[in-house]
This record gives sequence, C-alpha cells and structure tokens, in this order.
Amino acid sequence: MKLQDPALFRQECYINGEWLGSGESIEVNNPADNSIVGTVPSLGARDTQNAIRASQQAFVLWSKLTAKERSEYLKKWFALIVEHKSDLAKIMTTEQGKPLVEAEGEVLYGASYVEWFAEEAKRVYGDTIPMSQKGKRIVVLKEPIGVCAAITPWNFPSAMITRKASPALAAGCTVIVKPAAQTPFSALALAELAHRAGIPKGVFNVITGPAKEIGAVLTSSDIVRKLSFTGSTPVGKKLMAACSETVKKVSLELGGHAPFIVFNDADIDAAIVDAVASKYRNSGQTCVCANRFIVQEGVYELFAEKLTQAVKKQLRVGSGFDAGMNQGPLIDLNAVIKVEDQIRDAVDKGARILAGGKRSGDSGFFFEPTILVDVTSDMKIAKEETFGPVAPLFIFKEEAEGVAMANDSEYGLAAYFFSRDMGRCWRVAEALEYGMVGVNTGVLSSEAAPFGGMKASGIGREGSKYGIEEYLEIKYMCVGGI
Ligand code: ADP
Repeated sequence: MKLQDPALFRQECYINGEWLGSGESIEVNNPADNSIVGTVPSLGARDTQNAIRASQQAFVLWSKLTAKERSEYLKKWFALIVEHKSDLAKIMTTEQGKPLVEAEGEVLYGASYVEWFAEEAKRVYGDTIPMSQKGKRIVVLKEPIGVCAAITPWNFPSAMITRKASPALAAGCTVIVKPAAQTPFSALALAELAHRAGIPKGVFNVITGPAKEIGAVLTSSDIVRKLSFTGSTPVGKKLMAACSETVKKVSLELGGHAPFIVFNDADIDAAIVDAVASKYRNSGQTCVCANRFIVQEGVYELFAEKLTQAVKKQLRVGSGFDAGMNQGPLIDLNAVIKVEDQIRDAVDKGARILAGGKRSGDSGFFFEPTILVDVTSDMKIAKEETFGPVAPLFIFKEEAEGVAMANDSEYGLAAYFFSRDMGRCWRVAEALEYGMVGVNTGVLSSEAAPFGGMKASGIGREGSKYGIEEYLEIKYMCVGGI
C-alpha cells in the first residue's frame, strides 16, 4: 500500500493522546488475497480501564469548552479527513476490500457527519416551559451525557465511527472507540487526524484487542454513560443486557432485512438502477442493502429479466484496486459460507438461479453477483440477513399482500418501494414497519437524515438534528422564589 502520507497507517492504539503498543498483537488480513496488511495491539481490560479514566479526565475540560470551540476542532478534523481522502480510501480498500471509488465515497460520507455535527454543536437548544404554579419557572438544559463507548463494525470502517464520535464530541462528550478487528486501520487513521486537528488528549480514543474483554469493561463501567453500537443483532442484545447493570443509555444499529417492493405501476427501468445500487453496493454487505425483492406479478418476469441483464452487464468482480471492478471480496470465509448456505437452501426448496450462484477467483473471498427467482417464505433467505451479493425475488398479487410480506421480519431498518401512484406511495410508506423508507429510491443515507431502525434493528437515530440528542441528557431546572 503506497500512501502519500505513510504516517496515516498506524499500527498502535491511540489512548489519552498517545500511541500505545503491546506485547501481543493481532494480524489484519486483506480479504482480496488473504495477505497480512499489518498488526494492531491486543490490549485488554487494564488498558480499557486506563482509556476510560483518561476519557473521564478529558470530559471535565472538553465539556466546559464553548460549543463554538468544539465546533472549530471538528471543522479541523473534517478538513484533514477530506484532505487525506485518497490515502484513507487506500487503507480502507486494503483492509476491507471495497472498490476504491466506494472507499473514497465512504470517507467523504463519513466526513460529512463530522461537518454536520460541527455545525449542530452550536444548536443544542434548551427550552423554557410555562409553569402551572406562580413564582416558579421551568427551564430545560441539555448537557453532555459523559464518557461514551462506540463499538463499530467492519462494513463501514470509517463512517460508522464518525457517525458516532462527531455528535458525541459536538455535544461535549468524550469517546472510546473499539473498531472491528477486521478493519482497525481506518479507525487509527482517523485518530491520527484527530490528533493533528489538535483535539485534546483523552477526548477521542481508539482501542483494539479482544472484543469480549474490552466490551465487558466498557459496558460494566460506571464511568461510561453511553454505548453506541453498530453490528449484529445477537451481539447488540448481549451488549444491551450488559449495559442494564449500570443503566447506561444505549444506541443500537443492528441487522436489517430490507424489502424492496416493485409494484405493477412502477417505473421499471428506474427500479432496476436503484435495485442494483441498493443490493450490490459493498458486495451486499450493508445493513440497508435490499435483502428481498418483492415484485408484483404483472412485472415479475420483466423485472427478473432486466435485473439479470443489468447485473451481467454492469457488475465486475475483482480487487477493489483494479479499475473497472465494482464487486470486491466478501469480508471473510464465513461470509462466503453463509451466502452459499442460503443459496443451497433456496435451490433445494425450488428456487432457480438466473445469475451467479458461486464463488469467484482462485484467492480471496469473492462471490459472483447472484439472482434467485421463485423464492418463497420457507427459505432461509426470506428471514436471515444475507450480507452478500444475492438478490432473491418473491412474487405477490395484491398491495396488502406485498406490504404484509415486507413487514414479515423481525427487523425494521430500511425498506424501499417503487410505484408511480401517489396514494399508494403514502399508504405503503405509512404501513411499512421500518425506520427508513425509500419511495422510488434505493439509496437513502445522508448525514442530514435520521438513520436507524425499529424492532430488532435497533434503538436510536444517527445523523440529522436528532443524532446529537443521543449524547445529551435533559436537565429540568425548577427556578423558584421569583
Ligand atoms: P459482524 O457480524 O458485523 O462482525 P458483530 O456484531 O460480530 O458483527 O461485530 C460488530 C462489532 O462488535 C465489532 O467491533 C466486534 O468486534 C464487536 N463485538 C463482537 N462481539 C462482541 C462482544 N461480545 N462484546 C463486545 N463487542 C463485540
């Protein structure tokens, strides 16, 4: 990996403004060829405690800065991330596998949260409320919650960190990030840039090591007042339970199983463009990727045919560094095995493969973009999140049936549908039990919008004016003697 600024590739943890190594280290692999990218320290309970103490001390000063001062630090961090976007993208593609163009897109998308919350920092408004008794006033103050922990996944190694850390820092909180073991270098590069931005020591920390051990210390600590987690639903449930001991505030962004409904009256060509974008971005490894195409019978054959043409024409599997490639590897062998298992199960129960269906290449964890038709609700893929490049097509007759199929999931993160009927657009959008609904679009993430899910997909929202509330406490001050 050739970087313009090699110092962005850090192989140490960043705690209390210092770079820290350890005797033991963890290897990080490149999923495109399984080569070793580098190593990071394997820090444990004691170092996590140190990070918590450092964050607690830093909170005293950081929370007392003016919002404008914190905003200035965030703006500097934002500018540095944008300035180094090419190097950050290279680091990401090397450890995560996504195409370089997508990696740079993620760096800028992640940076947009830093910019957004640099602005929002100055707009944390309280309230005054008319009192029902004479001689008293009700005043509502918003205060930073305290030391926050962020546990983040590998599919968006940069944006999932900025989406949590920037509202926290803007609000006046301090943060300890535990990135995914597969993608720590993007996190450490962000720490290097936070350091260069002059963010004071202890305010932003990154620790690597065994997830369970670090997670146990973070969740059981009395000092840590908030956990923000993005990852799988089973782990999220465990962390939520662990946080109950200290009654911590939690934000959870968990699994999804996004339906993508195509009605008979849809603009099919527009639906195809967004179906490809929604399904195959990051090789299907996003929690908002379309996971079920629910297609009305009048356009089922046409949609299947056009989607197959588009996939065969547009998608190219290969290393994220190769020009013209847009389907990188899956993150590891387990991810490939899960995808294979879902396809095998579906085919055994009667589904047909219109495209792909198998591994690709001699090394790395590549998988062909796949389309399955005649998929039914008894198949694993109808219920389990796929996290891979497989588009299963279900058929339905009536609007209510399509909506019921879409809602038949433990998850409630993102849903999409295509229709040109105005009344139907409102009816269906309101009937879908999902935190985010794309109407005639398959791509909806934006720093200005509230991202998050219902049901087993999580608690809380990230981004937008709502995102900063997750890091604030409401204090009611009753002023008497007036
Ligand atoms: P994924 O399937 O995307 O890897 P995980 O939920 O396993 O999702 O991982 C998301 C994040 O949670 C990663 O940073 C991982 O290291 C961390 N993690 C996994 N298990 C635990 C745990 N028991 N305690 C704390 N963190 C964990």
